[in-house]
Amino acid sequence: MTQFTESEERTALRDAVRRLAGGYGQEYVVAKAAAGEKTTELWQDMGRHGFLGVNLPEEYGGGGGGIGDLAAVLEEAAAAGAPLLLMVVSPAICGSIISRFGTEEQKQRWLPGIADGSFTMAFAITEADAGSNSHKITTTAERDGDAWVLNGQKQFISGVDEAGAVLVVARTSDAKTGKLKPCLFVVPTDSEGFSTTRIPMTMKAPETQYTVFLDDVRLPDDALVGDENAGLLQLFAGLNPERIMGAALSNGMARYALGKAVDYVKTREVWGQPIGAHQGIAHPLAKATIELEQSRLLQQKAAALYDAGDDVGAGEFANMAKYAAGEVACSATDVAVHSHGGNGLTEEYGLANLLLASRLGRIAPVSREMILNFVAMHTLGLPKSY
Ligand SMILES: Cc1cc2nc3c(=O)[nH]c(=O)nc-3n(C[C@H](O)[C@H](O)[C@H](O)COP(=O)(O)OP(=O)(O)OC[C@H]3O[C@@H](n4cnc5c(N)ncnc54)[C@H](O)[C@@H]3O)c2cc1C
Repeated sequence: MTQFTESEERTALRDAVRRLAGGYGQEYVVAKAAAGEKTTELWQDMGRHGFLGVNLPEEYGGGGGGIGDLAAVLEEAAAAGAPLLLMVVSPAICGSIISRFGTEEQKQRWLPGIADGSFTMAFAITEADAGSNSHKITTTAERDGDAWVLNGQKQFISGVDEAGAVLVVARTSDAKTGKLKPCLFVVPTDSEGFSTTRIPMTMKAPETQYTVFLDDVRLPDDALVGDENAGLLQLFAGLNPERIMGAALSNGMARYALGKAVDYVKTREVWGQPIGAHQGIAHPLAKATIELEQSRLLQQKAAALYDAGDDVGAGEFANMAKYAAGEVACSATDVAVHSHGGNGLTEEYGLANLLLASRLGRIAPVSREMILNFVAMHTLGLPKSY
């Protein structure tokens, strides 16, 4: 019989993360962002408890679980007001790709640090001139004897300042144009020729985005992860977890915002009864709650497919899950701010910044429109529109 509840183990994991992240809470994250500091204590604490590597193999320091477990961790942290954006890149994308396609030596070298949080790996695919069309990326890797030489530029790369290395998506120089044949390289951030410029963002968050410049960055042969001719499979072994984690982040944020709103409308009285008694306030909250539950089911289904090894099914549902979660995060934060009246826009209540933060779930890692394009084409069999 199909169960629509998670295992006892997953539930216990959620409880433990909620307790730990709740001890930090939104106030901690907001204070760090305001001071231009990082949430390092929370990251390390989560790492010490094994939460950052729950999806990675036990023999490399991980918890031996799946992406469904890691997504549960991120969802709970976000629901406690303390999301960790870099979980999307370091253990989910980079950890998944290296676990599945790395050599034994690469696994031993990178995974234990990623699993316990002592080493963070950023991920770079986006380029300014390519945008959503990753087939147009021009970062190029050229062979030079035993080495690789990388040249190119990446945009909006999160957390490079906190990362010891970046997993860079490039193409080989003999495949400069046409359909992307991606090659993945671990590039240490202290490599010669590697430099960054911070992109000022309006959203207040401890994690920051960078333009990354790769100018004749020389890497050893074993910087290449996986096969240079493997095509898109290796990349999507990381991008599907990224979408599932994006969904988890958005769903957690929606839970946080709705929780705040429900608490508020139960006690705020303007007409001699709590404002939550008015349907104009209660119904939007109820609607967002239903949409959130739909979205969480999609997140769990996508993760279950990925963890079962069904990459094709996971691709379809990871896209759908990311779409649904992006939408519910936007509507839930909107409803939460509105339910608070003027207080919704104050710093004290800390909700207005979520209006901006929730938009990220519509834009990244893949935009709402590109997901609709994908579902129209692959689920519905409609002609390609772009
Ligand atoms: C806070 C933040 C963190 C990020 N972190 C990372 C990171 O760590 N690593 C990384 O590699 N990237 C990262 N990104 C980049 C992110 O993945 C991209 O912004 C995203 O993929 C969209 O690409 P773009 O910004 O170039 O938008 P564009 O591709 O320029 O799209 C602009 C608009 O046009 C629409 N559009 C484009 N093509 C079509 C089409 N065919 N049909 C319909 N509509 C279309 C899009 O949906 C969007 O609304 C981050 C971005 C942000 C904002």
